[in-house]
Amino acid sequence: MRRIIVLFSFIIAIPSLNAQQKISYLLNKQANLNKVTIQITFDALSANDANLVIPRSAPGTYSLANYMAFIDDVVGYTVTGKQLSGMIGDGSFFMFGESNDLLNKVTYTVDIQKMEIDLLDASMSSKARKDYLGLFGYSAFGFIEGLETEAINLTINTDPSWPVFSTLRPDTNRKNGTDSYEAENYAALVDAQYLLGKGVQVIRVEEAQIPLFVAAYAETTIALEDIGNTGLLSLQKLADYFGYIPMPHYTLVYEFLKPISERHDYGFNMEHLNSMTAHRDISQEYNPNRDLGTIIHHIGHSWIPLRSWGEGYRPFTWQVAPLVETIWLNEGFIWYVSFHKILQNEEILNWWKSNMDNAPAFIKTKTLKELSLLGSTQYASDFRIGKNLFSRGALMAYDLDEYIQKQTNGKKSFKDAMLGLLNWSNENQRAFKFNEIEPIMSQATGVDLSPIWDKWQKAPK
Ligand SMILES: [Zn+2]
Repeated sequence: MRRIIVLFSFIIAIPSLNAQQKISYLLNKQANLNKVTIQITFDALSANDANLVIPRSAPGTYSLANYMAFIDDVVGYTVTGKQLSGMIGDGSFFMFGESNDLLNKVTYTVDIQKMEIDLLDASMSSKARKDYLGLFGYSAFGFIEGLETEAINLTINTDPSWPVFSTLRPDTNRKNGTDSYEAENYAALVDAQYLLGKGVQVIRVEEAQIPLFVAAYAETTIALEDIGNTGLLSLQKLADYFGYIPMPHYTLVYEFLKPISERHDYGFNMEHLNSMTAHRDISQEYNPNRDLGTIIHHIGHSWIPLRSWGEGYRPFTWQVAPLVETIWLNEGFIWYVSFHKILQNEEILNWWKSNMDNAPAFIKTKTLKELSLLGSTQYASDFRIGKNLFSRGALMAYDLDEYIQKQTNGKKSFKDAMLGLLNWSNENQRAFKFNEIEPIMSQATGVDLSPIWDKWQKAPK
């Protein structure tokens, strides 16, 4: 009996050892420079097979950013210590030549200051300010093509006096100078934010159902507690609506910044699996109570689309901005839940309608799917497209809600349709196809929703 157990454990030990092999990322903040150096170490690959991919987009941004433009000094290292210069490929990636030399390490630098100057949308750029480095994972970390699903061990090194914070493992007790993190794969690594420096403040919000944090960098005086209270209220309202909280923890990341220029736009925020990132121009008055709708909306994205999503959103094709057919759902359904159901703002229906009525012809003549494809790269850069997408999605949600309640004498509602999508994603662990959305919602509510669905597929004009 004992021998068998020993043998058995030996057999299972082999694959589990392999599974534990990780890719190592090392991020070094360069002293006195607003640049970081990234080192990626991996199981050796033939140099002619190794491409270092730099993301050009990220889930939920619905835009293109040329992050390659901020990267320099790309070097590959062979197992024998030879250095191979990275050469720009035919897309958002670097190559390391035609040799069969075995490559197991690459390094490169990212110029964060140049990124902040060149990218006018603050929600796409990392920031380098006095006593502060705030990084969006996807703006700094590339990956070796083909290794995206491997587990990652990340070490961050910075000035010895600088505290290190990440939304991967939020904590008010921060280590100074260096810290390490585990990420289950590349997507999880780059979905997170990394906030370094003495300028970063972190508080934990007590009484929340999950560990809830505010992490902020402010070039003015800001009471983080006020943001925390609004975040707590938002989380409670969403938990009451959906009936559960899927996130293990949550961080509200805020940046209060002197604008780089008048052309820089601080109006957009970004959602992530377990965090949201907001940017505020300190030349404008800030009132955290007025952020309630925004915070509910962005935390709400932790349900949809982050935990129930359509094709294109995940798995994500990092080196292009993939075509997404369901932006109206990702945005519109959560707009409807946030502002109409939770905040009970009836007036907003008219605003959504006016967004549709006042759209230019090139938007009005597009079907729902066509407009979403267009919005995949231009959601915010032409915000008439973005506004039209979420307005159509929110008004479809309203129609669905009215129809479901009428057909079921109030026993079911739009909430059951959304819970149907969430349960389906939880069971299937894959993106739903466009043609699966209506059947999933119909089945979850017991109502044939095809009449409403079909109506909203058409172009308004
Ligand atoms: Zn949104």
